[in-house]
Amino acid sequence: MTGKVYLVGAGPGDPELLTLKAARVLARADVVLHDALVSDAVLAMISPAAELINVGKRAGQKLLTQDEINALLISNGRTHPAVVRLKGGDPSIFGRAGEEIEALRRAGIAYEIVPGISAALGAAAAAGISLTDRRVASQIVLTTFSRGIDGSVMDWGCVTSTTTLVLYMPGAAYAEVSEHLLGGGLPADLPCVIVSNATNPQQQVRWSSVGRLAREEKLLAPALLIVGRVASHEVAEISAQFWGRSRKDPDLQQPSVS
Ligand code: SAH
Repeated sequence: MTGKVYLVGAGPGDPELLTLKAARVLARADVVLHDALVSDAVLAMISPAAELINVGKRAGQKLLTQDEINALLISNGRTHPAVVRLKGGDPSIFGRAGEEIEALRRAGIAYEIVPGISAALGAAAAAGISLTDRRVASQIVLTTFSRGIDGSVMDWGCVTSTTTLVLYMPGAAYAEVSEHLLGGGLPADLPCVIVSNATNPQQQVRWSSVGRLAREEKLLAPALLIVGRVASHEVAEISAQFWGRSRKDPDLQQPSVS
């Protein structure tokens, strides 16, 4: 019997932010392979009859390798009707869904992606800001400074004065992050906001700026950083400041930084 593997987004934590489809799939799953980031409140929505496998990693401790996770998805997909791969946020945003999809495709196992609310959206909601406020933003870049397996790094060429930058996995070294942002050509007084545990009971929001970030007290993981003019309570007031330049400003067209 070959079943189906559902790659399900668990959202940023608040179980009310699950899609109806995710809730339905969780309630009738036979096996659920979940990440460490999935909140207890969401785990509580899984069918009590389902087998739960924690494949997550926490504090650098790898429980299973990606190949081992792929193998588990395939073996379970071959023996159970409904297998769920449950990931924090959205499965396709910094969630390694690509590798798992490829493995399932190669093994001839049917899969379906059930999207979730990514941490960027949960964090923006927590901070009460609009990521694309039309007065100051024209695009969003979802990125991370932690290197991918190919060593790829952020391309600063796409960052302009109207970019909202959302930095996943910023880590605890805020000074380094601040340096990186300044090195990428962002002004020290550009606002940013750190959101920790967005939509969870222990949520924290810290307003800062690219320069001040270096001295901010560390917030608990998981946290992300939203950088740009939208990361301010007074967007209307600050819209005339910061560069006061167009997107074509050559000063902001920095070459890629490694
Ligand atoms: N697939 C996930 C991201 C996984 S990468 C998504 O779409 O959200 C893990 C990173 O996501 C964390 O290091 C952190 O930067 C961010 N993150 C996940 N949940 C978060 C939360 N509740 N609050 C703030 N950041 C979160």
